[in-house]
Amino acid sequence: MTHHYTVLFGGTVLTFDGARPTDVASRAAGDPGVPDAAGRRATALCYSHDRILAVGSDEEMLALAGPDSTVVDLRGRAILPGFVEPHAHPYWEGLVAGMALFAGRERRSALRAVPGAAEHLDPDAWLVARYDPTGWDRPEDPTRDDLDRAVPDRPVLLAHVSGHAVTANSLALAMAGVEAGAPGMAGRLLVEVDAAGEPTGVLRGPDAWDRIATAMPPPTAAEGRAALARAAARLAADGVTSVADADVGSTAGVEAEMAAWADALAEGVMPLAVALLPGLARIAPAPGDPVPGPADLAALLPEDVRARARLTHVKLKADGALTTRTAWLRDPYDDAPHAGGPVHPPPALAERIRRAAAAGWAAATHAIGDAAVSAVLDACAGAPAPPGSAHRIEHAMLLDDGLVTRLAATGVTAVVQPEFLAWAGATYRARLGEERAGRLLPFSRMLAAGIPTAFSSDRPVVPGAPLAGVRAALLHDPALSTTEALHAWTVAGATALADHDAGSLAVGQRSDLVILSGDPTAVPRDAWARGADGIRVQATVAAGRVVHGTLGGDA
Ligand SMILES: [Zn+2]
Repeated sequence: MTHHYTVLFGGTVLTFDGARPTDVASRAAGDPGVPDAAGRRATALCYSHDRILAVGSDEEMLALAGPDSTVVDLRGRAILPGFVEPHAHPYWEGLVAGMALFAGRERRSALRAVPGAAEHLDPDAWLVARYDPTGWDRPEDPTRDDLDRAVPDRPVLLAHVSGHAVTANSLALAMAGVEAGAPGMAGRLLVEVDAAGEPTGVLRGPDAWDRIATAMPPPTAAEGRAALARAAARLAADGVTSVADADVGSTAGVEAEMAAWADALAEGVMPLAVALLPGLARIAPAPGDPVPGPADLAALLPEDVRARARLTHVKLKADGALTTRTAWLRDPYDDAPHAGGPVHPPPALAERIRRAAAAGWAAATHAIGDAAVSAVLDACAGAPAPPGSAHRIEHAMLLDDGLVTRLAATGVTAVVQPEFLAWAGATYRARLGEERAGRLLPFSRMLAAGIPTAFSSDRPVVPGAPLAGVRAALLHDPALSTTEALHAWTVAGATALADHDAGSLAVGQRSDLVILSGDPTAVPRDAWARGADGIRVQATVAAGRVVHGTLGGDA
């Protein structure tokens, strides 16, 4: 009867069971066992295979153990539900893990590193890498001239770390057919030119990557599968047990990426719970194209792995990024004479969301500027999400009282990225000025207003560990508590993915859990905000399988 039970005892189990998104609401619900947004507490837990069998006291759980059980003394460590990452780019993360990133403080020394990254490549291979100018002394994007000087003899394509711009050398531009007079596309592609009308090498907008990448060989099936295996290991090391790919098809096309997911799931190298959000621009490129439904996408996966990949949302973009000045603002940037603009004119965005909803999808729409957030709320109001799921707005960064009220009223889920604020806060202040930068992501006000708010990272834009996201959120918003931040990384993420078997530790839930080196709620809030909490991920269990570390810890 007790075969293959795993009993973990002698720790702090933060179940998040019975919790509401805020401490105040959790207490107000009147359950004396639920003191805050981390829900009921226990000291021990028992699971078998992929389900939690019991949660309770050491005595109760140890009574369940038999001769074949694995019994582990937590010695005061903490168990939480596995972190849920509702917006990431695992395929891209796995690919870029092997690429150079040109970052640092000095633009000149960042560019001096470019030739070295090409040294060990095959003679005709492209140099593909990323750059992050947000910390540079001169934050201008590298131009074709910079890259021609660095690497004249092979095509070079560098992606801005946000994914919203690229830069290429002359060889890559020529192979992609980008020359003087090459057309852009309103909202989707801006080909930057110099005073003489020649392309500078910098392309902006959601189609920038594709415009150049179509000229280079796509990742092979083996590279795609290896990328997902690498991403899974990195996510598991950060305590993540559920991950959503928030733009399937954006790197190598929908078919190639779905094939990689199918392989990775079938071979067990992607052991996490997975949600796939196909890019609407990939599955229905032209406004009038028929929109394939979730069942059509599921048909791209072999039958035996279909149940392991959730297909509930499509990904759309309403605007770009603040770092690349492509986010759509109501008022102009502080450091540029324009306000960005929409990817789709608002009526076209509304029509796209309507068509997606009619095909059975909820929409997850990227919107960063206040004008874009407003347009997405208008569009979602006219197109109810299919039963069982809610529309999402990705990032929702620049808000004001009116937008907070409207977000709360529509029931749209905000999927937000606290680590962005730690990464690019100085750039945001330069783009927006102090007043508007002070209105970025008011987490505690969003929660108090009743907006379903899930934390995520958008990794690999930032490194993306959920604990780093907790630190960034607590530093940014003095009114947010540690338990509320952890709730946003667990219960709220599972709700955003409509995955009701995840996000909390209760009987019958999936055995997705993370073991932390100590109780995160015992660490003063200030220590978290200063990054001095000392809390580490020691083990991660996804559907009953140890996917990182060991249950016994490293003592
Ligand atoms: Zn993203």
